[in-house]
Amino acid sequence: MEAKEKSAGQQLKDRLAYQFKHIGQTHPEDIEPALAFCEDYKVFMNSSKTERECTAYLEKLAIDHGYSAFDPAKKYNAGEKVYYVNRSKNIFLVTFGKNSLAEGIRFNIAHIDSPRLDLKPFPLYEQDEIAYFKTHYYGGIRKYQWGTVPLAMHGVVMLKDGTQVKVCIGEAEEDPKFIVSDLLPHLSAKQNQRPLNEGLRGEELNIIIGNIPYHDEEVTEAFKLKALELLHERFGMTEADFTRAEIEMVPAYKASDIGLDRSLVGAYGQDDKVCAYTAAMAAFAVKDPTFTTVTVFTDKEEIGSEGNTGMASHALDHFVEDLCESAGARKREVYRHSICLSSDVNAAYDPTFADVFEKNNSSFLGHGPVLTKYTGARGKSGSNDASAETMYKVINCMEKENVCWQIGELGKVDEGGGGTIALFMGDMDVDTVDLGVPVLAMHAPFEVTSKLDIYHTYKAFCAFYR
Ligand code: MN
Ligand code: MN
Repeated sequence: MEAKEKSAGQQLKDRLAYQFKHIGQTHPEDIEPALAFCEDYKVFMNSSKTERECTAYLEKLAIDHGYSAFDPAKKYNAGEKVYYVNRSKNIFLVTFGKNSLAEGIRFNIAHIDSPRLDLKPFPLYEQDEIAYFKTHYYGGIRKYQWGTVPLAMHGVVMLKDGTQVKVCIGEAEEDPKFIVSDLLPHLSAKQNQRPLNEGLRGEELNIIIGNIPYHDEEVTEAFKLKALELLHERFGMTEADFTRAEIEMVPAYKASDIGLDRSLVGAYGQDDKVCAYTAAMAAFAVKDPTFTTVTVFTDKEEIGSEGNTGMASHALDHFVEDLCESAGARKREVYRHSICLSSDVNAAYDPTFADVFEKNNSSFLGHGPVLTKYTGARGKSGSNDASAETMYKVINCMEKENVCWQIGELGKVDEGGGGTIALFMGDMDVDTVDLGVPVLAMHAPFEVTSKLDIYHTYKAFCAFYR
């Protein structure tokens, strides 16, 4: 059948109106590579549930990809790759560019902390013959979602003699898991009357760790003692050592494919390790870039980026100062000419909860990375709000290399809001914009992303570095 010629109006619309299509429609050839790309992503997610584990995993990958530890006394040539680890919780990956440092850096910054349940400094107690951990949640969680979720225990303990012990229970198939209980429907009539944000309250996020007593009629708190005995056997720790520990309770779920078509990935902590993974892969892939690239994996974003492993600190600034000294460049000149992707996730449009989104400015699963011009709340407050020039530069990078991308706001005006690290790079006098993967059920114990988006985010980061 001969194609019918388009009407004048259709032709005009083709020329003037914005087309917004699923990558599966416009680039069906990308489906297979996207599915293949996400196989290693799932492995990464299962090995990187905390910022420390993620840093260690990326350090190992970086060394495998020919990176060496940064030496501030050394001069580096174009194409050389170095890394720097900050306090076991951040890693910075550098590829030196052909241009001088004074011509600016291409920064790409993702965060590797995710919402979770942290143990309190004295977490261990027993109540009515059950041993528990008391927790203080980290980041913005919907507390009711964390009941009856299998949890794993991750972290480090500093023993009295200064030895550091790594803790990880609940990840191996045969490992025990841990759990926060919730009421049965038969007895929850009163709890059902609570507002959703109090479905489970902060002091109800108590984690069950045991139910067998230490066998001694004379001893009190025998269930707690049994737990202490087991922890001592395994880690050599005592109750006091919890005060020198960082223990994070995270979902024990493994990353998996979602959907009959395996189009999606379900995993804990995809905010923001989906951007961390794609950023790392782009950093590894870049060879002889024009501009020096600095890929940053940061911590504490979920609680405001405070502390010396968060982006509000001077940790990155000091590192850039070291780079400048080694290259004989002026730091302020470097920043002024730099451009930064704040690579963080955004909320994917959810058809089931459509009323919190403004559809024309929402990001859709399968439409590519989301370019978020501004975040914030109540009139863009707390937002970096990228300039038209910065939007142009980043969009241009992507379109030159056929990367699918989309625009996204975090929900309707005044529906809520959120922030990223973008404003901290803005403070440093760097042009910055948010770019990342859309996520369904963000901050839930199991978050969902699209493989096509992940793949095109990787492509976007590669394009940005080239
Ligand atoms: Mn995030
Ligand atoms: Mn977040």
